[in-house]
This record gives sequence, C-alpha cells and structure tokens, in this order.
Amino acid sequence: TAKRAGGDTTRVYTPDMHDAAIARLNLKEDLGQAIDAGELSVAYQPVVSLETGHIDGFEALARWEHHNLGPISPAEFIPLAEESGLIGKLGAWVLTRVCADIAAWRAEIGAEEVPIVSVNLSPRQLAEVDLAEQITAVLDRFGLPPQAICLEVTETALGQSGVDVSETLLDIHARGLHLSLDDFGTGHSSLARLGSYPFDVVKIDRSFVVPLTEDGRHRAVVQAILQLADAFELDVIAEGVETDAQREVLEELGCARVQGFLFSRAVPAEEVRDLLSRHASYGRFAVKG
Ligand code: C2E
Ligand code: MG
Ligand code: MG
Ligand code: MG
Repeated sequence: TAKRAGGDTTRVYTPDMHDAAIARLNLKEDLGQAIDAGELSVAYQPVVSLETGHIDGFEALARWEHHNLGPISPAEFIPLAEESGLIGKLGAWVLTRVCADIAAWRAEIGAEEVPIVSVNLSPRQLAEVDLAEQITAVLDRFGLPPQAICLEVTETALGQSGVDVSETLLDIHARGLHLSLDDFGTGHSSLARLGSYPFDVVKIDRSFVVPLTEDGRHRAVVQAILQLADAFELDVIAEGVETDAQREVLEELGCARVQGFLFSRAVPAEEVRDLLSRHASYGRFAVKG
C-alpha cells in the first residue's frame, strides 16, 4: 500500500509487510550465528551421465536448519549473506566443508572413485581479488588436487558490480580448477561472450528444461544451446530434470549430463559415500533418490 503525503509517495507498511521486514532482519542476524552454531550443512546432488547412468559429479548445495524456523532455502539466505557481507565467511565455510568431505571420501574409497564436486560462487565472492589464492589454500590444506573442484558462476555474476571478473576466472582456471557457467540462458550476456571466458561447462537452466516436452520450439532452443556449447568445446549439464519425458528429449538431443529430482535430490555427505562405494547407477530408468 502506498499513501500520498505532501507530494511524496510514502510506503505504508501493513502488519504483514512489517512482520516480513522484521523476519528478514532477524534472519540476517541469525545467519551471522548459524555457522558457529552448527546450523549450516552441505548437501550433494548427483550429476548423472545420460549415456552410462553413472554419477559423473556432484553439486554442493548449502543448507540451513534454523533453530526455530526449520529449513531455510539458499535462494533466501544466500542473498541475505550477500547483503550483510557474510558471504565471504559463508563461502569459505562451504568450500572448507566440501574439501573436508572430498578428502574423507578419497581416503575411504579411493581417490579415483570420487568424481568432481561443484561449488557455487556468489557475485560478491567473485569480486574478491584474492579469491583464487583463498581457494588454492583450502585445497592445499586438505591435500586435494585442483581438478577435484569445479566452481559455478552465474551468468548474472559476470556482468555485475562493474568489476572485471575475467582475470579472477583466468587465475582460477590457470590453477587447474574447472569452471562452469550456471543458470545459462537466464542472464543478459550475449551468446558470443560464452567463448571469451575460460569455462569448461555450461549448465542449461531448469527454465529451459521444464517446457521441453511442450512443443518443438523449446526443443529447438535447447538444441541451439547444445550446438553452441559444442562449437565452444564446452561440456553441458541440463538442470532440473524431473520427468522421464524430459530425460528422453535431452537424450535424443545428445545432452551428455543431467541433474534433477528424477535421479536424486541433494543428499547428505554420508549418503554420497554410500552411493560412491556401491557404484550407484541410475541406468536407463530413473531411481528416485
Ligand atoms: P543452483 O546453483 O542453480 O542449484 C540448483 C538448484 O536447483 C538447487 O536448489 C537444487 O536443489 C535445485 N534442483 C535440482 N534439481 C531440481 C529439479 O529437478 N527440480 C527443481 N525444482 N529443482 C531442482 P537449492 O539447493 O535450493 O539452491 C538454490 C540456489 O541457491 C542455487 O541454484 C545457488 O544459486 C544458490 N546456492 C546454493 N548453495 C550455495 C552456496 O553454497 N553458495 C552460493 N553462493 N550459492 C548457493
Ligand atoms: Mg549451481
Ligand atoms: Mg543452476
Ligand atoms: Mg539456479
């Protein structure tokens, strides 16, 4: 609701909006303590090869179990962490947790059995000048090679903040880490820019996968992305595959790898160990995770 007051438009908070604003403020404060209170964790979503059904990788996704409110979505708390300047601490915590998990899996079931794990980077993290160094330091601490990790950057993060992030990306890549362009198709970057950054992987956003079986036009869009990725010699992962029909179309189009609830949601670290040690395969038919 807005009210005219002396020519100015004043925002009048309804009780609901007031509550929401307070809740957001409280949540921001709580997030500051959440790491130390042990309320954060990392869950891992399998990346599945459509050719073999094998797990080809995992994406690490932050989870917050709030002491009163229960699970809070990262879509909600990551932006809060960005706004409040906590993202550096949170990002470092996530990377450290992931490296500790990878090191433990490698020790238990063998280094070759543990596929690459992707970690999301937020726009603000990307703007830190010593990011590449920080990342290498964590890898070194756990005795991990740079190839153990892939970093996911969204298209939006590339153009944001006025900072030229291409040097940081080149630095990260030169150190041997993989890079993937997340949520491809949802940002503003032109297709041509795809070739001007050192990405190894393009992740086709869920919004292109959802309507894939509706009509031929959506199919053509995904086909075009696949061709483009091929031209730039990039691997592709389609995100958010939920149905057999979507999986079939992606298979027909030659998309090599997928992620989605059809195969598995993100699972706790202990479950990753089980999946890897029994060489879990999703075969031609989906197994619910
Ligand atoms: P994202 O990086 O694009 O991650 C994929 C999101 O899609 C995850 O949501 C995942 O659970 C969800 N997803 C996977 N398969 C399906 C599916 O079949 N259907 C549907 N409806 N969703 C699916 P999640 O875990 O809620 O994360 C949301 C976003 O929050 C992520 O999007 C990422 O941008 C951000 N995020 C999560 N963890 C971190 C983190 O550690 N650091 C940073 N900077 N961002 C993070
Ligand atoms: Mg991601
Ligand atoms: Mg994504
Ligand atoms: Mg996304």
